[in-house]
Formats: sequence, structure tokens, C-alpha cells
Amino acid sequence: MTKLRLAIVGAGPAGIYAADILLKTERSFDVSIDLFEQLPAPYGLVRYGVAPDHPRIKGVINALRDVLDRGDIRIFGNVRFGEDITLADLKKHYNAVIFATGAIRDTKLDIPGIDAEGSFGAADFVSWFDGHPDVPREWTLDAESVAVLGNGNVALDVARILAKHAEDLLPTEISDNVHAGLEASKVTDVHVFGRRGPAQVKFTPLELRELGELRDVDTVVYDEDFDYDEASLAAIASNKQVKVIDRVLQQWRTRDSVNNAGGSASRRLHLHFWAKPVEIRTDAEGKVAAIVYERTEPDGSGGLRSTGELREIAIGQLYRAVGYFGSPLQDVPFDKRHGVIPNHEGQVLAKDSNQRVPGVYATGWIKRGPVGLIGHTKSDAMETVQHLVNDQGAWWQPEDPSEAAIPALLESRGVKWTDLEGWHRLDQHEVALGAPHERARVKVVPRDEMVRISRGE
Ligand SMILES: Cc1cc2nc3c(=O)[nH]c(=O)nc-3n(C[C@H](O)[C@H](O)[C@H](O)COP(=O)(O)OP(=O)(O)OC[C@H]3O[C@@H](n4cnc5c(N)ncnc54)[C@H](O)[C@@H]3O)c2cc1C
Repeated sequence: MTKLRLAIVGAGPAGIYAADILLKTERSFDVSIDLFEQLPAPYGLVRYGVAPDHPRIKGVINALRDVLDRGDIRIFGNVRFGEDITLADLKKHYNAVIFATGAIRDTKLDIPGIDAEGSFGAADFVSWFDGHPDVPREWTLDAESVAVLGNGNVALDVARILAKHAEDLLPTEISDNVHAGLEASKVTDVHVFGRRGPAQVKFTPLELRELGELRDVDTVVYDEDFDYDEASLAAIASNKQVKVIDRVLQQWRTRDSVNNAGGSASRRLHLHFWAKPVEIRTDAEGKVAAIVYERTEPDGSGGLRSTGELREIAIGQLYRAVGYFGSPLQDVPFDKRHGVIPNHEGQVLAKDSNQRVPGVYATGWIKRGPVGLIGHTKSDAMETVQHLVNDQGAWWQPEDPSEAAIPALLESRGVKWTDLEGWHRLDQHEVALGAPHERARVKVVPRDEMVRISRGE
């Protein structure tokens, strides 16, 4: 029987679902899969993106763990494609590769002052509070007033973590350095800016509602933002999600805390709609000092137009949550404009000619861009895997497809890779760290410590 030796790069949900779907697909050939992951821990943004106070979503990890624990997928953790292993290596040892490397960088925002000291990408802050090993341990929250730019779920995650009191995050899996950083925070006012109105936001009702439930935090909305045009009214009438968002915001309008009138909490979370940031002003030392935004208005068809009216709010820090962006991979085509691997339904295409690149596939956020929930990566993986199966005649013919070749190669390069057993060790270690404090786990952050624990060294 023919055998497919498949390499998958990236052990986030997209990579794990792709492996699972392929193993369960009816096919006329055997399959053996090796999963390469640059981090010593699997699950991608489910571990390092989803907020720590969303344990229900983190529960997706249980489903992903079940797949890995079956033991029919080999994991090589702490192995980075492009450094520890290359496309030439994969061609030598496999019939095909699926790239599922996601997106971890922030999209750029081109406004004057955006690179000032105190201006951060949401991705960096998220990586910090989720204990990603490759970002600095310290995060100084020394400003009372901060801005969050964006109106998606990531913007609300960032705003919520900034507004929340550190002790309310203690029951979660945050690491000690994150708790200490949040506890020292001086933040009292978090200002969230959206260029359009409440009927055009990208966040979901659940994330919005949660803001209203934060202890000792008042949500502040402004009456002037609710002067709906026809397009907004139509969106509220026709879309259930928009209707719920409007209902939640309307409830907040009638609460004591709105428009700064009478709220008694020690922290406030302001939602500014129809507010387009145009400049970040700095102080004499070049640090973020104020945000200048232009008041926008609906253009009648769901978009926005300028009004020319500029406003300014004093802030000491700024967080850009305007989208994530994929990173290029060595020797793999990359679409610089969209931050994805160019592809047709997961079959990778050459950058200039649009011709298929045989044996090379993509799935997840690196395939279709950083939008959509974890569940979407499953349907995505199905499409990619179906093409891989149908393309049987076009796979690579590897020189040495033996399973022993990869550990030998990594060994020869001095790569300290981790495997499934190692992940179990790290997982159990983290759970044990949390147990005395009745916490589900406490994450280990330094990479060398993760590797050491995984390898039982
Ligand atoms: C802040 C944030 C919060 C979110 N919250 C939610 C939520 O609450 N609910 C929800 O459903 N969705 C949420 N999402 C979306 C969800 O995380 C994504 O849909 C999903 O993780 C995308 O999966 P992926 O496998 O394509 O990418 P990723 O999850 O990013 O996984 C990619 C993996 O590839 C690895 N990798 C990258 N480059 C290399 C390389 N060169 N070599 C080896 N390995 C590599 C990475 O380390 C990573 O493990 C959130 C996203 C973000 C950013």
C-alpha cells in the first residue's frame, strides 16, 4: 500500500485539526504524520492568544489534547521551520507538507507618532499576559489613562485585561510575573476607539457583555454615538448579533455610570465610537502623551466619512488592536500585502505565476488571514486535506522517508526537540504548580525551563 509521509508545520488548532481529519479520512493509502512546532508547547493561539479569563474557550484544548494523546501523530516541539528544519529537509523526508503557522504579529497602523515610546501592538501585550516564552517578562503599566485602538474581540480582550483588577485574574492560569505586572498597574481609564458606530463593530455580544460585569469597573458610553443612520438601523433590524450588541449598549446608556455621571468604580472603560485616531502626540521625552482623533459620521451605506472635527484625550500608553498579520517562511511563497501564503483552497501557489507548488499546502490563519474563530480552522483544514488526498499523483518522492531520519537529523544539528511525552511532563508540572493555590495551572514561561522540564533534564 502507498504511504503518505506528511509533515505539518505549526501545532495550533489548524495543524492539529488537519492531522486529525487526514487520519480519519477514507483513503487508499497509509499515513504517517510528523507535527513540527517552534514552541515547546502545542495549541498555538489557544494557549498564547485566547485570554486567560476565558477558560471555556481554553477548554478547546481538551479536544486538541485528545487528538494528540491518541499517539498516532509524532510531535517535534521546539523545532522552528526555517532554522532547525528547512523545506529542502522536508522534501528529502516527506511526500508533502502542510503549513499551519498562523499569525502572531500586529498589522501596522500608519499614523504620526504611532511608534512613540508607550505605543504597543496588541499581539505583544497578549503574548505577555498569556506567558509566551519569546517576549520580555516585564510589562510596565505606569499610565493612568490608556487607549486601545480597534473594535474587534482582541481589542476588547486587551481593554478588559487592562481594566480588570489583578486579583480577579488570580484564579486563572496567568504566571506570577503577569500577576505582579497587573497588580502594579496604575490604569484607571481605558479608552477604546472604533472608527465606525455600534452597528458596525467586529466584536461579539458575549465579549461586550463581559465588560459590563467587571468588578469595580464602570463602562462608559456616549449619547452622541447613538445617532443611528438608516444603514445602522437596518443592520440592527436584520442581524441578530448587531441587535444584541445594540441592546447591551443601550442598557449601559441608561445606567448611572454613563457619560461619567455618577459611576462609583475606581476604574472606567470608555467606548468611543465614530472616532478615528489620526495622531499620537508625545511629550518632551518622546513618550505617548495624547491621542488625537477625528470625529467621523456614517456615510449612509455602512461606511464612514470625515467631519473634520478633531478631539484630543490625554493618555500615557496606547495599544493597537487593529489585526494580526502572518510572517513569511523561508523558501515558501508569501503574499506581503495580505500576510498569507498564496493558495487556492489550501493548495499553495507560486507568488508570481499563480502555478501550483506541488506538495505544499496551507491551512488556518496563514492560509486565509487572521480572521475567524478556532472552529473555522476545522472547516479550513477539511478543504486543504481533501486537496492533499486528491493530489496523490503530484506528491514529492522523498529520498529517505524513514521515520528514524528526522530524530537523527535534529540530533545532528543539536536541536533540543520535545515530544508528546515531554509535553505531558510540562503539562503535569504546570498543573502541579497551580494545585496548592486551587488554580487550574500556572504556566511556565522561560523557554529553556519549558524545554528542561519537557526533556526531564
Ligand atoms: C488575542 C486573540 C484572542 C482570541 N480569542 C479567541 C476566542 O476567544 N475564541 C476563538 O474561537 N478564537 C479566538 N481567537 C482566534 C484563534 O486563536 C484562531 O482562530 C486560531 O488560533 C488560528 O489557528 P492557527 O492554527 O491557524 O494559528 P495559531 O493558533 O497561531 O497556531 C500556529 C502555530 O504555528 C507555530 N509556528 C509558527 N511559525 C512556525 C515555524 N516557523 N516553525 C514551527 N512552528 C511555527 C506557532 O508557534 C503556533 O503554535 C483569538 C485570537 C487572538 C489573536
